Amino acid sequence: MIDLRSDTVTRPSAGMLAAMTSAPLGDDVYGEDPTANQLEETVAGLLGHEAGLFTVTGSLANLLGVQALVPRGGELLCEASAHVVRAELGAHAAVSGVTTRTWIGPTDLTQVSALIAPDLGPYFVTTSAVSVENTHNFGGGAIQHGYDALADELESRGIPLHLDGARLWNAAVATGRTPASYAARAAAASVCLSKGLGAPVGSVLVGSAELIREARIWRKRLGAGWRQAGVLAAAGLYAVEHNIDRLAEDHANARVIAEVLADAAPGSVKPDQVDTNIVIADLAVTGKTVAEVVAAARAEGVLIGGVGATQLRVVTHLDASAADCRTAASTLAHILTH
Ligand SMILES: *Cc1c(COP(=O)(O)O)cnc(C)c1O
Repeated sequence: MIDLRSDTVTRPSAGMLAAMTSAPLGDDVYGEDPTANQLEETVAGLLGHEAGLFTVTGSLANLLGVQALVPRGGELLCEASAHVVRAELGAHAAVSGVTTRTWIGPTDLTQVSALIAPDLGPYFVTTSAVSVENTHNFGGGAIQHGYDALADELESRGIPLHLDGARLWNAAVATGRTPASYAARAAAASVCLSKGLGAPVGSVLVGSAELIREARIWRKRLGAGWRQAGVLAAAGLYAVEHNIDRLAEDHANARVIAEVLADAAPGSVKPDQVDTNIVIADLAVTGKTVAEVVAAARAEGVLIGGVGATQLRVVTHLDASAADCRTAASTLAHILTH
């Protein structure tokens, strides 16, 4: 099977497993796991922040980060298909009492500015923070080019920025920028180790020492303090040391898939809009359904996913070689044209 449903499906490599089994360990709830501490320091450094917190998922890192910026009943602005508002099962509302309003489409200063609600006294909800997802998952792995202008605006208005950087590494590699050049603009930023970087588990939340101290308390309060976490942190350290630059290969593979699909089903995807490792193809032009194409691909040994009523999502990653991606692309092209 060639599994292109997500970049979360990777398995730890031999080198990563070796790093995990040889990592020095301690009790992380006591702050004594040297490997977890090293991961937190390393990622905080890479992202231009004072401190980091290793979490079991990106959803938890986002929950803790947003909660640190938005008081109960306060408002978070985000994009309408952002992970924080679509794929975290309402956690920010259910756990932290956060309300949201959303804009639609790429990060756009004019659109977001129009939504910002200033503090008008005890009559209306106030915007406490804005969250930007970069790259944007359901936006097809799109780099958010409006990020810096929005960060400038929020800074001048004293409104904190939350960065859902689950795939910030992809944005950095694709643009040639440092991860810190994005993340340092945010008051809280999360990054995934278990997406394109290939670790089996984990994300890191970064922020000020004070924000991370508070997030550490909440992590434990929510039952997600962990003991010899270094066995997993070692995989994360290995991932940031070895697997960032190679994301360029995933991006090239995604572009190849997009080009093959665009040839097979003109209008389904614009290859020059595939910024990173996610290809979203719209089947509306083909007259085929998502379920039909996903099932036919599975029967041919290719796993892909659907997003929305008419869209397929194909995600490249370090366990799918260039040859695998070419095979998957021609399989899909055959299905779309028959
Ligand atoms: C995957 C992802 C997350 C975190 O997901 P978990 O499954 O909770 O680790 C957060 N934001 C985005 C944009 C993601 O793609």
